[in-house]
Amino acid sequence: MAHTNELQLIENQGWDERILVCRNGKLVDTFIVVTDRFVVLVDTVINPQTAAQMLEYAQPHLVNGCQLLVINTHADYDHSWGNQLFVGEKPVPDGAEVALHPAPIIGSHLSPAKFQKPEAATYLAKMKELEPEVFSEVVFTPPNMLIQDKFVIDGGDLTLELLPTPGHTDDHYSLFLPEIETVLAADAAELPYPMARTPDGLPQMRESLAKLAALPAETVLYCHAPVTAGRQLLLDNIAYFNTIEAQCRAAVAQGISLELDEETDVLELVDCPYETAVPDAEAWQNVHDYYKTAGHATQVRAMLQWLAQENKTER
Ligand SMILES: [Zn+2]
Repeated sequence: MAHTNELQLIENQGWDERILVCRNGKLVDTFIVVTDRFVVLVDTVINPQTAAQMLEYAQPHLVNGCQLLVINTHADYDHSWGNQLFVGEKPVPDGAEVALHPAPIIGSHLSPAKFQKPEAATYLAKMKELEPEVFSEVVFTPPNMLIQDKFVIDGGDLTLELLPTPGHTDDHYSLFLPEIETVLAADAAELPYPMARTPDGLPQMRESLAKLAALPAETVLYCHAPVTAGRQLLLDNIAYFNTIEAQCRAAVAQGISLELDEETDVLELVDCPYETAVPDAEAWQNVHDYYKTAGHATQVRAMLQWLAQENKTER
């Protein structure tokens, strides 16, 4: 997919006015939460250009001593590659290399290590080569205020509860704003479904979905879903995995082998076409084909692996 440096402010469609939704092409939505004490950027998009655009939207609210805070919901490129704007290299006498707008970046204690991985450097190099106009300036900058459990920011009029919601990645956080009954789910839920990075992430991801669905929320916004998806998407994602689980269990009851190899066509093995696991609505049909085929198969495979593990521990 080609990326864009453009960031657009989305017109409010009924959520609290203190939340601004920024959209980077078809890739990702990020958020700005304006409270009495802090202006909080939730994620920094894909590069310094898009992060600078977020900062520009935030600027009018950085008055009366209001401080800037940055949160990374997780360390994926579409959520954290604009970090360098807020944490520069160590300040040097001539002022070069200093962050454009210094601010703490709050993120999971598991995030910094992800920037250190050789695969991460390889990925960045590849992106710089493929789309230099978008990625050439990116300098890996991990979050620098690290949290491990639930973390609460008291903004005065609004409270931001950062809730660990692992699964998609192990460093994933979602936000709950109790005063306005709003959840910023980030990538814990998506249309058509969230993806766990590793098979062990699947049960965690389902637990995180349940945790978010149990919150008393009226408004739920996501990084990869229409702003109109609402709380229902959490329930639809839960139902998707429940359907896959039921179909996998049925196949196991019929005696399929759980010894899968890379070649196994799991969609052949388990009767669970994409269409039967998602709502019968246009939005679910209009997704990229990947989600109906290989992406869906990955989920079924992860579910079978989970069931195989469960069988082993039961024995
Ligand atoms: Zn994402």
